[in-house]
Amino acid sequence: MQVPFLDLKAQYLSIKDEIDAAIQNVLNDTAFAGGPYVAAFEKDFAPFCQTQYAIGVNSGTSALWLSLIALGIGPGDEVITVPNTFIATAEAISYCGATPVFVDIDEKTYNMNPALIEAAITSKTKAIIPVHLFGQMADMDPIMDIARAHQLYVIEDACQAHGAEYKGRRAGSIGDTGCFSFYPGKNLGAYGEGGAVVTNNPELDQKIRMLRDHGQSKKYYHTYIGWNCRLEGMQGAILKVKLKHLPEWNAARRKNAQLYHQLLQGISQIILPQEADYAAHVYHVYAIRVKNRDAVIKSLGENGVNCGIHYPVPVHLQAAYRFMNFKPGQFPVAEKCAEEYISLPMFAELNETQISYCTQVLKKFIET
Ligand SMILES: *Cc1c(COP(=O)(O)O)cnc(C)c1O
Repeated sequence: MQVPFLDLKAQYLSIKDEIDAAIQNVLNDTAFAGGPYVAAFEKDFAPFCQTQYAIGVNSGTSALWLSLIALGIGPGDEVITVPNTFIATAEAISYCGATPVFVDIDEKTYNMNPALIEAAITSKTKAIIPVHLFGQMADMDPIMDIARAHQLYVIEDACQAHGAEYKGRRAGSIGDTGCFSFYPGKNLGAYGEGGAVVTNNPELDQKIRMLRDHGQSKKYYHTYIGWNCRLEGMQGAILKVKLKHLPEWNAARRKNAQLYHQLLQGISQIILPQEADYAAHVYHVYAIRVKNRDAVIKSLGENGVNCGIHYPVPVHLQAAYRFMNFKPGQFPVAEKCAEEYISLPMFAELNETQISYCTQVLKKFIET
C-alpha cells in the first residue's frame, strides 16, 4: 500500500464543482489582482478568526513581514521568536532589518517556553513572535502578560494553525496581528500562494492594507513605501470556497490524530504529540518523536508510508544564520526535537485503513 504524506487531489475532487465555478467567475470578471474576490474572502476570514479585520496578502512570509513593518520595527530592534519553526518567521524579522532573538521551546507542546522569554528581553526588544507549531497554539496568557509588562508587540505566527484555539480563542485573535499562510499544503491552502494578516486594530488594518499595495491610499497616491504583496483574485475565490469546508476538515484531522494516538499509545520508543489542556489542536502536522529517526523514516518509505520532517535543522543552526554565531547546545530542546521528529501522513481525507497501515509498519520496525 502507498500512503501519501498529503493528498491535494483528493481534496480538490471532493469540492471540484464549487471550485471550478469559483474560478470561472473570476475569469468572467477578469478580477485577477486583489479586487472583489479577495475582499469577499477577507469578509469571511476575519470572523472565522474572531477578529475585526483580515487583509489578504501573497504569502505567510509577507503577512509576517508586513506586520513587523506596520509596527515600525526595523534596524536596531530585536524580535523574540523560537528556533524550531519554518525559516520564514526569522526571515521576516531579518528582512525588515531587525535581529531575531531565539528562546527555546517547551518539550510537550513544541511551542515557545514562556518561562524563558524574560531573560531574552533587552532594551532593544520590540516584539515577540510565538509560532503555533503543528496546529497547536503557544501558551498565550503568560506570553501576553510578559509583552504587556515590557510594552512589546505580539505577532502570532499562525501559519500552521487556521482554526486552532487557546481557551476558546482562535489563533490570530490574541496578539496585535495574526499571520496566516495559504500555501497549498496548509490546513487552508490556496491553489498557488497566499496569506493573510488578521487584527482587531483599525490603524494596523489600514496601514497593512496600504503596505501590501505599494503603500497607496488611492490609485497612484502613495502614503508609505510599500511593496507588492497583493493576494490574487483567483486565490481569494478559491479560499472563500475552501474556508466553508475548513471546520469539517479540521475535525477530520482531529479524528485522524485520535486514531493514531489510540493505535500508537503505550509504545515506549515513540513520543506522541500532546494536546495541552488549553488547546484545540488542528493537527496541521502529526509529529511523533523517535530516537533512530532516519532509520525509521527509511523503513516507512520502503513500505510505502511517506513521511516528512518539520524541521530537520533548527533556524539558529541554518547556514543562512551562521553569521550570528549560534552554537549547537544553545537551544537544547529544539535541537533534540529536530533530531527526533517524524511527521506521519496527515490530511482530512486520510482514511482508517491508511492510518492503521501506517501504524502497523511503524510498530513492526520499532519492535524488531
Ligand atoms: C508556511 C509557514 C510560513 C510561511 O508561509 P508561506 O505562505 O510559505 O510564505 C511561516 N511560518 C510558518 C510556521 C509556516 O509553517
